[in-house]
Amino acid sequence: MTSFGVADEIWQQAVIAQLGKVQHTSNLYYTSPDAQLAKLLCEKTGMKKVFFSNSGAESNECAIKAARKWAAENKGAEYSTIITLVNSFHGRTVSTLAATGQDHFHQLFQPLTPGFVHTPANDLAAFEALAGTCKPAAVMIECVQGEGGVMALEQDFVRGLAEYAKKENILLIVDEVQTGNGRTGALYSYMNYGVQPDIVSTAKGLGGGLPLGATLLGEKVENTLGPGDHGSTFGGNPVCCAGALSILERLNDDLMADVRAKSKLAFEMFQNAPGVESVSGMGLMIGIKPVKPAREVVLKCIERGVLCLTAKNKVRLLPALNIPTETFQKALEILREVCAE
Ligand SMILES: *Cc1c(COP(=O)(O)O)cnc(C)c1O
Repeated sequence: MTSFGVADEIWQQAVIAQLGKVQHTSNLYYTSPDAQLAKLLCEKTGMKKVFFSNSGAESNECAIKAARKWAAENKGAEYSTIITLVNSFHGRTVSTLAATGQDHFHQLFQPLTPGFVHTPANDLAAFEALAGTCKPAAVMIECVQGEGGVMALEQDFVRGLAEYAKKENILLIVDEVQTGNGRTGALYSYMNYGVQPDIVSTAKGLGGGLPLGATLLGEKVENTLGPGDHGSTFGGNPVCCAGALSILERLNDDLMADVRAKSKLAFEMFQNAPGVESVSGMGLMIGIKPVKPAREVVLKCIERGVLCLTAKNKVRLLPALNIPTETFQKALEILREVCAE
């Protein structure tokens, strides 16, 4: 899940250089790496402000807090509901579990934070019907559902949802924790859909393996959170941010084209491959549904030196974005053999 794999040299140098300067400050102060990273994130996305935290769940917590405060101030306190999708995954804190649209994650941890409702993916009419009655502050989506089975949402659904949200003054939050930072062949996955979210949350690939979450706030909500509303002791840690800056600077158009080319290779190799039912996903976030149980395929691949994981009944691939094509192809060949056995 790290953007440039294990012990990437440029990232290492950035981290080590920052460690030699200052490793932490009180959150009363800005540091140079977090200011530079926030600036670059805004330049690359058109968002206005950034709040740094330590994880994906926390980046969503900040998104939820910003949405609720904005709605209370602009629509009325009763507009507190957050709509998310069935099969979504938004984290493991008590509130982001409530946001997660999968019952089996909820069972042992009741009661969860109230005010979250779920609507099926790719059903615009169902979304509009729910949004019309539930007094929503925001709708939160992953453009490609990761834990939910590597399912890319349909273009028309995402565009229709974004249009409806804009018209009805409902904030659009895109959870880019897994899909972000080049993973889908665009810097952020929403860019593949031509929509403009009000809030973007991200983490995973951003820190290069060190803990870092970011919540990007657009025009509508840029001034919503004020001093004392939200905070984090280690969020925006300068060592994490220095490493992240060295990653974000390299997520350029050439690399994105390379990600898309490697994605195409994978799709071609697994469409109609023996023992494979389907291939899904976007960019280098790929789900392969084998005829055999996915777990069995993953274990056999590990024996043969290929590390992959599962998502529901699929084998999930999230290689480093800069994986050499030859290495990737070799890994895909092994996976294809295991599926066909
Ligand atoms: C992993 C993930 C999270 C949670 O991130 P953590 O860093 O584990 O808290 C949230 N949303 C999505 C879409 C994820 O894939």
